[in-house]
Amino acid sequence: VLSCQGVRKLFGPSVVLDGLDLDVAEHEVVALIGASGSGKSTLLRCVNLLEDLDDGTIHLDGAHITDPRINPDLVRRKIGIVFQAYNLFPHLSVLDNITLAPVRVHKRPAASARSQALALLDRIGLASKAAAFPDRLSGGQQQRVAIVRALVNSPRLLLLDEVTSALDPELVGEVLDLIRDLKADGMTMVLATHEMTFARQVADRVCFLDAGRILEQGSPEQVLDNPVEARTQQFLRRLA
Ligand code: ATP
Ligand code: MG
Repeated sequence: VLSCQGVRKLFGPSVVLDGLDLDVAEHEVVALIGASGSGKSTLLRCVNLLEDLDDGTIHLDGAHITDPRINPDLVRRKIGIVFQAYNLFPHLSVLDNITLAPVRVHKRPAASARSQALALLDRIGLASKAAAFPDRLSGGQQQRVAIVRALVNSPRLLLLDEVTSALDPELVGEVLDLIRDLKADGMTMVLATHEMTFARQVADRVCFLDAGRILEQGSPEQVLDNPVEARTQQFLRRLA
């Protein structure tokens, strides 16, 4: 589904991504871990074309999406992204939050976006909140709506950046359950997380980012329980 090759990204003089390679297969769930500032969010933003690359290429389903002639809106229609917090527009109802981009940006018929949004809300048990404003929802409910919103164009790939970190611990479970459901449906996902239990529970593969590259990767057991690289061991020891 996704192939990143030699991705390089600089912010001023600092090299944030240094020739990073990452391939993600269909239905695969990949967790990105690594110290704060290691480039996890930047990589996700590059994949969603929110940042320009300084070098390298990214392909989605074989199409070269970092080609400057590509229309980013067409690419983003195929890639859902959810951030840590402040995902929903406070002045729009839950339903309008979900249908805004498909209707305004992607010019989909309002009725079809609406019925799909309602079906997705029903699936997460929030159909009754369609007309509510985000401030009437718990943090966990808001984040589930944000995830559902990212699904409304039936994306090929879902990018999740620390989607549970802003939540109270008791609300994390409902978001995790939704992500597990999506995995069971075969959704291909790349997620950045500081929570190793989350990575362990949902990821098929864990990638440890260090100095702008993937230093070590493998199954959660390999990387989290038996890391080979000294830097990975050090990172995990600090969390323990
Ligand atoms: P965290 O775990 O804290 O979320 P991260 O791995 O997601 O960290 P990034 O947010 O990708 O890290 O940041 C990587 C580096 O790039 C950091 O040093 C950060 O300061 C820098 N950086 C990110 N965005 C910008 C920007 N827009 N302008 C300048 N520097 C940036
Ligand atoms: Mg980040």
